[in-house]
Amino acid sequence: MEGRTVIVTGGSKGIGKGIAEVFGKAGCNVLVVSRNLEEAEAVAKGIGDKASGFVADVTDPEACKAMAEAAVDRYGGIDILCANAGAFPSAKLGEMTPEDFDDVIATNLKSTFLCVSAVLPAMKSRGKGRIILTSSITGPITGFPGWSHYGASKAGQLGFMRTAAIELAPYKITVNSVLPGNIMTEGLADMGDEYLDGMKAAIPLRELGAVEDIGYAALYFAADEAGYVTGQTIVVDGGQVLPESPEALDEMDG
Ligand code: NAP
Repeated sequence: MEGRTVIVTGGSKGIGKGIAEVFGKAGCNVLVVSRNLEEAEAVAKGIGDKASGFVADVTDPEACKAMAEAAVDRYGGIDILCANAGAFPSAKLGEMTPEDFDDVIATNLKSTFLCVSAVLPAMKSRGKGRIILTSSITGPITGFPGWSHYGASKAGQLGFMRTAAIELAPYKITVNSVLPGNIMTEGLADMGDEYLDGMKAAIPLRELGAVEDIGYAALYFAADEAGYVTGQTIVVDGGQVLPESPEALDEMDG
């Protein structure tokens, strides 16, 4: 991975920060992207000289283009895009407004299209590329009250991925997704202790994931060894989606 360039959106916090640090340790140049330059630069500083911060709102097509141009200017090209920025505000049906729905779709799903579109010229000119999306178990596999818009956005990313993987295969660009379970991040901490304790109890491995767990899964998709893998998903959830019922966990505990 030494010397390859990765863009990590939402790299200033949580899972994106974990991805940025894992790729930094692997020797990559890392463009850490968020809407807050100070926070993005702080993460980049922690990674070292080969990382830098950049401000972009991933819902803005021009900002996404500027992000890709910055990576090319600073590092000479783009090898990997980790399209990770996302938000998970909660609103149940009946109280969810059309604006709430549009905001979540724009931040989580339309941003995926915008960021992928922005990096394509640089990847096509290199004749290869790796695109890794941060989806979720919520939507593609499970549901949770308050997250119908979020689940739709995360399942939508996988629909996008499958056609993108076919369209981009002739350019040797692969597109894959990591589906995190409950990973301890700043965003998840906002859900409160009751939510976090309930989730821990529902996970066979009995702990929340670490941000690096998602970083290593993304690193696999970016590695030369994964060059023949495209349009696929890896669930990283401590076994959370496996139990058929609460009794399965009771039986597990004996
Ligand atoms: P987080 O701690 O809230 O961090 C979100 C990151 O995205 C921040 O860096 C934030 O920076 C950035 N961001 C948000 N909106 C943005 C925008 N419009 N433009 C640019 N950057 C934006 O969230 P997280 O828990 O790490 O989640 C990261 C991703 O993992 C999301 O896609 C989420 O859906 C997914 N995920 C998380 C979990 C989990 O358990 N944590 C589980 C499944 C999936 P700024 O606000 O400064 O822009």
